[in-house]
Amino acid sequence: MTTNEAILLCEVCGGMGVITRAVPIDHPDFGKSFPCPNCNTAALRRRDSIARMSNLEHFQDKTFATFQTELTYLDERQNAALRIALDRALGFAQQPRGWLLFMGNTGTGKTHLAAAIAHEAVARSIRTIFVTAPDFAGSSARHLCAQCGSQLRPAL
Ligand SMILES: [Zn+2]
Repeated sequence: MTTNEAILLCEVCGGMGVITRAVPIDHPDFGKSFPCPNCNTAALRRRDSIARMSNLEHFQDKTFATFQTELTYLDERQNAALRIALDRALGFAQQPRGWLLFMGNTGTGKTHLAAAIAHEAVARSIRTIFVTAPDFAGSSARHLCAQCGSQLRPAL
């Protein structure tokens, strides 16, 4: 079920996302709107908005649940490295503070784990923009100061 379907199916608010209380006309809450306790549409809409802006549309299948750590074409040391990477990614997703850097050859799961972290952040309504390393190097990175990492403004 998508978020939009959840909103449409709400039996409490009919998809409005807000309710009013049945109180007497002289009650302070008379005529006021309150978030629907059943669907909390505002929170769902915020999460939908964050998901739309996250740039994850091409990485929908890259989640923690789909990350493989027992690949037959890898040896035990390599599979153990995948398990460690998954564990670190899960930890970072739970407490996304600072930086997490994955290094490895092409096709070793770095993008998959980064997307999985991003999906987790979106699910928790954390504003997220997913950018692959080539895209980052091609756009954002050139606007960052090489020494301090701060955002550079274009010269006038
Ligand atoms: Zn509702």
